[in-house]
Amino acid sequence: MPTTGEISLYFHIPFCTRKCPYCHFYVTPDKQSSKDLLLEALKQEWNLQKEKIKDKKVVSIYFGGGTPALFGPGPIQTILSWIRVPPGCEITLEANPEEITLELMQSYKASGINRVSIGVQSLDDNLLKILGRGHTAEKALQGIKATYEAGLTNISIDLMYEIPYQTLPVWQSTLSQLADLPIKHLSLYNLTIEPQTLFFKKSKQLSPHLPSPDTCLEMLNAAVEAFETIGLKRYEISAFSQSGYESCHNTGYWKGRPFLGFGPSAFSYWEGKRFRNIANLQKYAQKLKETLSPIDFEETLSPTAQKRELLAIALRRLEGVSIQDYPVDSSLYQELLSKGWISIEKKRAKLTPEGLLFYDLVGETLVEV
Ligand code: SF4
Repeated sequence: MPTTGEISLYFHIPFCTRKCPYCHFYVTPDKQSSKDLLLEALKQEWNLQKEKIKDKKVVSIYFGGGTPALFGPGPIQTILSWIRVPPGCEITLEANPEEITLELMQSYKASGINRVSIGVQSLDDNLLKILGRGHTAEKALQGIKATYEAGLTNISIDLMYEIPYQTLPVWQSTLSQLADLPIKHLSLYNLTIEPQTLFFKKSKQLSPHLPSPDTCLEMLNAAVEAFETIGLKRYEISAFSQSGYESCHNTGYWKGRPFLGFGPSAFSYWEGKRFRNIANLQKYAQKLKETLSPIDFEETLSPTAQKRELLAIALRRLEGVSIQDYPVDSSLYQELLSKGWISIEKKRAKLTPEGLLFYDLVGETLVEV
């Protein structure tokens, strides 16, 4: 269980040039007036919250979105200037391949960014079109190269499977192109069709073209094997990295490290409470202008529920957990054990291969609804 004074910060930068048909995040068009409004509101929110973190050590800062790379190095540098950033702090910027140039990435490096997460998703042009993305496979490869050449060598990419019309050979072709890329980390997602997305509206048309569950399993196995072959070891259900390049920020989520989120729709986890800001830039900024809290959802879990939830999240890491550190009712460990979803050895509980595959059921068993 987390007990150190280490914390993380998250900034939600909601700008996108288009809305991808599967996206369920809060995003808004990329306009200068909106950027000015956001920076001003973030400053006000920072001033409201900064007392909370004055004695804490910020070990990671994450600019997520949206497309934070559209905000510009100037505003990012301004935000970083408010924060006492200790040496070694991981500072990640999410970017999409289409906006990456060598010069832009050099400027981001100069602004303080030291890790970039690139939304590649696929290296197949047809699938990228189906996903409504603004880049081609070639542009994705160029973007990774330019980021590396700019000196931002700690690069992560996102890839997606279970996409409509995706076949195993097409997926294998994407996997076969990874070997030469200078990437240190990879996050693998299966596409989920969420309510309030265009894909959801079109789900009747799309469903017949989704890969079958057997094919999806083959895709997952092929991916894990391909990533391990190029030195990216699975360390969490959906995260792979070279040794020493595990994401500090995401590891914080899995270990229950407190974090404060800034910006519209940003989540926080602080002193056992979870809260979220209004998912609307104008309303978020208006609240802050009136020196009011922009939070529109807050939840405090009971100590028991909190322990169970922290265990559920911590089990996502392949190294598992020390049972002493996660003291939930022992019948829960027994239940997971009897279902074959965890193994327990030397007082450490770990997901089994089956538990990795059916993690959703592990989560449902532990998290009270
Ligand atoms: S670029 Fe990312 S955040 Fe923006 S709409 Fe597409 S998926 Fe959503």
